[in-house]
Amino acid sequence: MKPLYLAESFLSIQGEGKYAGAPSVFLRFGGCNLTCKGFGCKFISSYDGSELIGCDSLFAANEKHFKKDWQELCAEELFEKVLLHVRDLPYKPHIVITGGEPLTHYKHREFYTLLKLLGDFFVFIETNATVFIDFEAFKLYKNVNFCMSVKLSNSGEKYTKRVNKKAIEAICNNAKDAFFKFVIDERMIKEGEAQKEIEDITKDFTAPIFCMPLGKNKKELEKNSESVISFCIKNGYNYTDRTHIRLWNDKRGV
Ligand code: SF4
Repeated sequence: MKPLYLAESFLSIQGEGKYAGAPSVFLRFGGCNLTCKGFGCKFISSYDGSELIGCDSLFAANEKHFKKDWQELCAEELFEKVLLHVRDLPYKPHIVITGGEPLTHYKHREFYTLLKLLGDFFVFIETNATVFIDFEAFKLYKNVNFCMSVKLSNSGEKYTKRVNKKAIEAICNNAKDAFFKFVIDERMIKEGEAQKEIEDITKDFTAPIFCMPLGKNKKELEKNSESVISFCIKNGYNYTDRTHIRLWNDKRGV
């Protein structure tokens, strides 16, 4: 079985989506089935020093270039990390499982055991919703809340790779809670692509829709925010900001 890698963990507030503002422990797993070069974030490889382009989580998505920064951990060690983050808190924060694409590990014994250990925590998985989950064979996923951040054409990925309606349907029909979160920009809105693409992906489902401005840093976020707000008002979608970018710009682990 492939090792399970953790890219980082930290305690902060959820910066985006339906649960924005909720105190949360983030567990960011390594590895992803997409590359999303269209998001245009630049990173320097830990492997060979080359410049890489991808999403703002590239350091957790690209195994070849960043694996040496990740920790290989078993379920108990991962749970220990969670307990360390929460030990001084008089309440249980949300546990956000993110990546990379965490569901590439959904059948992994250690990943599934971690879900078991998390017991009655409010567990929230952020996914690109391309991985089909067998909810009958892996029943614990029925207790999980999902953010389906399905990628649009601005990710640079092909439609057939970034949209899997069977996977979306399985989450919508089985999970405790689920919502869509789309990253959009001014250009997509002006050219009418944003509305067309969101409609195509969501038309058969009732999960709430959140739209978030593309913004790898404060400057880009500010450029896209107003047009995304107007777009949401026009179409009846929910706007979500990126609180962590507003506060901490492109700093990691906050
Ligand atoms: S799916 Fe998410 S983590 Fe993976 S490359 Fe795309 S934006 Fe990054």
